[in-house]
Amino acid sequence: MPRIMLVTGGSRGIGAATARLAAEAGYDVAINYATRVDAAEEVADAVRAAGSRAIIVKADMAEEAEILSLFQKVDRELGRLDVLVNNAGIVAPAMPVVDMGLERLERMMRVNVVGAFVCAREAVRRMSTERGGRGGAIVNVSSIAARLGGAKQYVDYAASKGAIDTLTTGLSQEVAAEGIRVNAVRPGLIETDIHASGGQPDRVERLKGFVPMQRGGKAEEVAETILWLASDRASYVTGAFVDVGGGR
Ligand code: NAD
Repeated sequence: MPRIMLVTGGSRGIGAATARLAAEAGYDVAINYATRVDAAEEVADAVRAAGSRAIIVKADMAEEAEILSLFQKVDRELGRLDVLVNNAGIVAPAMPVVDMGLERLERMMRVNVVGAFVCAREAVRRMSTERGGRGGAIVNVSSIAARLGGAKQYVDYAASKGAIDTLTTGLSQEVAAEGIRVNAVRPGLIETDIHASGGQPDRVERLKGFVPMQRGGKAEEVAETILWLASDRASYVTGAFVDVGGGR
């Protein structure tokens, strides 16, 4: 029986690459998206072309009710969840902490932290062997910013990823005996649209010289690590952080 994976923010960037690779690995895939239905449909078509089932589900990670509906739709249309990839995330334009308004801070924390927490909770409710589930894996998409700090640019974003790291550590220990592994990838400078949405479309080009490997990473290079952490090949790996940052 094919395993079932839910990828939040699965219509673009790292999430889309993960959904495509997951299909090649034989998973049926639920692709969550926020706004771009066309992009989500394109990823779903690629998943189906690889011979797997795909559904697309609109849900804003800042809204608990929408996340609950998302999980119910996955239950109904694909079946019991095996893997959650907590990938959806946002950045905001670079600025020092003294200039950050409450609206920006609240949005950042709701999407990047609260959304990921609620998704993790819903996944555990379904996967836990103590609740009649068959176990599973959660892969959180953090960032190397969690340990670098993002000074003068996006300390809010870095702090949100720090929270994801602590969620990964704590939850991994809490649910290890319930058949669920919880790990995180920490991407470095990856070539996706997130830099443009943070107001810095030239960011990879500008900063790649600071990366020991002297280049930006591809979404697929992060997705490969996500797929490994999700798979049985990582069966004794939990509470781990894997940097995918070209040595940065
Ligand atoms: P991206 O902008 O291409 O993709 C982000 C995805 O999140 C999109 O599919 C978007 O629709 C979704 N999303 C945003 N807000 C959402 C919301 N409210 N509800 C549901 N979905 C929402 O960027 P990406 O680089 O692919 O980012 C994926 C993850 O990787 C993010 O968590 C990001 O923080 C992390 N990351 C990226 C980099 C990088 O350099 N690209 C580095 C470190 C970490």
